[in-house]
Amino acid sequence: MKITKISVFKKNLPLKDPYWLSGGRLRFDVLDATFIKIETDADLVGWGEATPWGHTYLPAHGPGVRAGVETMAHAVLGLDPRQVNKVERAMDIALPGHLYAKAPIDMACWDIAAQAAGLPIADLLGGGYREPILGASSISSGTPDNIMANIDAHRANGYRLHSIKVGANVDDDIARIHHIEERRRPDETTLYDVNRAWTRQQAVRVMNATAHLNVRFEQPGETLDDLAAISKKTNATFSVDEALHTILDMARIAREGIAEMVCIKLNRVGGLTKAKRIRDLALAHDIDCYVMPTGGTVLADAESLHLASTIPPERCLGLWACQPLIAAEVAAGRGPRLTNGALTLPDEVGLGVAPDEETLGAVLAVYQ
Ligand code: MG
Repeated sequence: MKITKISVFKKNLPLKDPYWLSGGRLRFDVLDATFIKIETDADLVGWGEATPWGHTYLPAHGPGVRAGVETMAHAVLGLDPRQVNKVERAMDIALPGHLYAKAPIDMACWDIAAQAAGLPIADLLGGGYREPILGASSISSGTPDNIMANIDAHRANGYRLHSIKVGANVDDDIARIHHIEERRRPDETTLYDVNRAWTRQQAVRVMNATAHLNVRFEQPGETLDDLAAISKKTNATFSVDEALHTILDMARIAREGIAEMVCIKLNRVGGLTKAKRIRDLALAHDIDCYVMPTGGTVLADAESLHLASTIPPERCLGLWACQPLIAAEVAAGRGPRLTNGALTLPDEVGLGVAPDEETLGAVLAVYQ
């Protein structure tokens, strides 16, 4: 089987509400999504999506995805999409780095490989658990009352895992965490996501002032050096999110004992081929995992669900799905959808969902 054609689509995904994170310093209104359609000489078609969370969240952006695909397309055409490691190597030689641009091509190849095998991607990866996986809410930065109103709205939809954006000044964050924890229900879990906003001293002060609450944090500093330093000064547990890009980052997190949890974002780490190695290294070191898309539609959510489903249920802490935040639909009524605050692996082969092409607008580029 050979890849014969790569088509590129761009679609703006408006958010239902403006979204703030990192203590309110970053605002988001619309996401720039790229969809990749890969065709083969075997009449199998695969779809990939790359939707960075705007231009300011990570070193990734929509125009960069499309420029990267243009640069790598010639190296991928003619390869067998089922041989994902060879496709990965071809992309890495054609364009070092730029993992976020490689992810949608990798995703489309896994879609085709799993269709060819007659299996869902998760089962081709070695076996997907069918237990529902907790969906994480994503609670935008705000006042304690705003945050609680947002949590209440998510409770009404069944959410029991709340990812709450913090990272304002130290006193406000300490007060905010106390306010929320006093109102947390026994069956709920909270994750206070700092999104890199704190300096080292701010992180240590907030995390130590709330240590008695036994709460979890995410990305309480900018770099792995920062997180390694913070981990020595606090007993609080935290997850590494934005600073986990490659398997070498994962190796350092494990080797130095920097964190007890990681958040694997498929687009950021370059797709399923690279993400599954990070997963294995984390699990081998008893580091638990969250799995998430960086953003996007039900396609990106489905990719994350396939990977999350390959993690033993007691080790997969949750999955954030972007679909409830987006005021756009590319596959109405299809693909995995949040039910009672959880997602369950579907049985369809491949990725399990393809977009309605007419929702994506005109083809932006074709490589063949
Ligand atoms: Mg995070």
